[in-house]
Amino acid sequence: MKIVMLGAPGAGKGTQALRIAEQYGVPHISSGDIFRKNLKEGTELGLRAKAYMDEGLLVPDELTTDLVISRLREEDCKDGYVLDGFPRTLPQARALSEKLKSEGARIDFALDIEVSDEEIVSRVSGRRICPKCGAGFHTLYNKPRIDGICDICGAELKMRDDDRPETVLKRLEVYHAETEPLIAYYKEEGILRTVDGSQSIDKVFEDSLDVLQD
Ligand code: ADP
Ligand code: ADP
Ligand code: ZN
Repeated sequence: MKIVMLGAPGAGKGTQALRIAEQYGVPHISSGDIFRKNLKEGTELGLRAKAYMDEGLLVPDELTTDLVISRLREEDCKDGYVLDGFPRTLPQARALSEKLKSEGARIDFALDIEVSDEEIVSRVSGRRICPKCGAGFHTLYNKPRIDGICDICGAELKMRDDDRPETVLKRLEVYHAETEPLIAYYKEEGILRTVDGSQSIDKVFEDSLDVLQD
């Protein structure tokens, strides 16, 4: 099963992608996580990407497309994956389609998680992530058992640098201009599925599994 997650920053793509990936027994591939990992390791790519991420801008396609597509060639991706955060532009979507076509494969579904801009701002301001294992939490909607501490590995949770309010508004603007057109792209391909992302995490997951049936 090959699934692409669509939705604004903070819509719940990562949260649902993890559960869906587990359900189908395929890896969760997050382009944002790949960039953050590179940054943590101090690679040249990580540093170049950070300059864009901190401004709420997209990392240029030249730095992104080959990086993510080469990740999809690894052994663990042979039976499928849940792609989270990629593609984010039409050129990225076309490059992914081309890559798959050359292998006689295709994306099965693009799952769009719909959430209003107002709700996005509150989702993102409460988002906390674990710098060690990458697990995601929310101060109100998805609390860790102990305040500020990762349930999984015990590390101290952090706010993401790009989740500050000024940056979030920029990211939303970029989302509407560059990423939202992918909804029409995948609709045209007949594989778009939509869920109401304003519901609880469990309900969004349940609805996602429903729409991924056919
Ligand atoms: P969110 O989960 O809030 O949607 P991500 O973790 O997916 O954010 O991405 C964080 C940042 O990393 C983005 O704002 C962007 O700067 C960069 N990024 C991630 N994926 C891509 C991509 N496919 N193309 C360009 N930039 C990307
Ligand atoms: P994305 O990957 O789309 O940027 P995340 O999965 O990181 O989004 O979710 C953004 C924040 O909102 C996180 O703090 C997450 O715990 C929380 N969240 C995710 N889904 C929901 C939901 N359905 N209701 C309330 N909060 C949610
Ligand atoms: Zn952790």
